[in-house]
Amino acid sequence: MTRILIVEDEQDLAGLVEYNLRLAGFETEHAPTGAAALARARANPPDLVLLDLMLPDLAGTDVLRMLKAEPPGRRPAVVVVTAKGQEADRVAGLELGADDYVVKPFSVRELLLRVKAVLRRGIEDEEAGGLLTAGDILLDTGKHEVRVKGEPVVLTALEFRLLRTLLERPERVQTREVLLSDVWGIQAEIHTRTVDTHIKRLREKLGPASDIIETVRGVGYKLAVRGQD
Ligand code: CA
Repeated sequence: MTRILIVEDEQDLAGLVEYNLRLAGFETEHAPTGAAALARARANPPDLVLLDLMLPDLAGTDVLRMLKAEPPGRRPAVVVVTAKGQEADRVAGLELGADDYVVKPFSVRELLLRVKAVLRRGIEDEEAGGLLTAGDILLDTGKHEVRVKGEPVVLTALEFRLLRTLLERPERVQTREVLLSDVWGIQAEIHTRTVDTHIKRLREKLGPASDIIETVRGVGYKLAVRGQD
């Protein structure tokens, strides 16, 4: 059974969410603080954590960072919950590896859609277990691993999705807008310059192997595979 850990200090909201997730067939646990959440996640790793970023003890982003630092088999999917207007939190959440986010106040229907979509994506990745490769870069979708000339490269979840998206669409120009919507899952909320910043970091991590990620001036990016074996 799919287990979801709800990290929320507002008791009423936690109760409502728990009730509805159970109704939808999920097993749930509730942790009212960041410390309790980490303890539970380590004792018995959930499939997904619904993480409120405004917690009474720890910064939600720290909890997120720690959850995502768990080894692959124990690392849960994380949907962060932010308050309206706290775009900085949302951006930080996604950069730290959150799989998606919902903004308070949210509808139960929206929450369920997000949770199910994230879980589905995880299962697809596992089942596909596909290897994507271009030049010296090898990306394993199942293991969430990237290697350059056989050497592992540590990427954030977001950098991983960005690289994966490029590898899946060789020789096709990806505009910043398309990358924002497909990689970040949002439209027009974050400036398109964000894409450039992340491409820069990704290139730094990939080193010379990143030559195949070409900048298409004024438009976006393209994975060039011509001339590769
Ligand atoms: Ca809260």
